[in-house]
Amino acid sequence: METRHCERCRKPFPAKLKTARFCSDSCRAANGKDVKAGRVVVAMPDREAPLGPPVAGGVLAAVTRELQDAQRTDTALGAMALELARTLDDPMTPPAAKATLTKQLAATLIEATKVTRASTLAGLRSERDRLRAV
Ligand SMILES: [Zn+2]
Repeated sequence: METRHCERCRKPFPAKLKTARFCSDSCRAANGKDVKAGRVVVAMPDREAPLGPPVAGGVLAAVTRELQDAQRTDTALGAMALELARTLDDPMTPPAAKATLTKQLAATLIEATKVTRASTLAGLRSERDRLRAV
């Protein structure tokens, strides 16, 4: 039988099971109470997985290109989209936040380029009117 140290009181105890963590029922119950109360006594494994390096030519590069194509880089929406893309590319940004940022960026980018399409249409109309006037 394996000897283990109780995760609650740190006393060594003979572990009947491989998964045994506490020396006694009272230690297990005390730990359970603490976990329920939000006082986690047992160290939890590090859940924050290491993030990979930023993707070469990542979101920022793509968004920059798209905004340049639409000639919206210097607009408020364009600047917002660039800032969102920069945060998305940042390896320090937590994955949970990225999900929200992705949605927000998509919406912002649609808005930013929608204005262009409208103004292009206006440009075409005025061009058409100009040609008609000739
Ligand atoms: Zn114990």
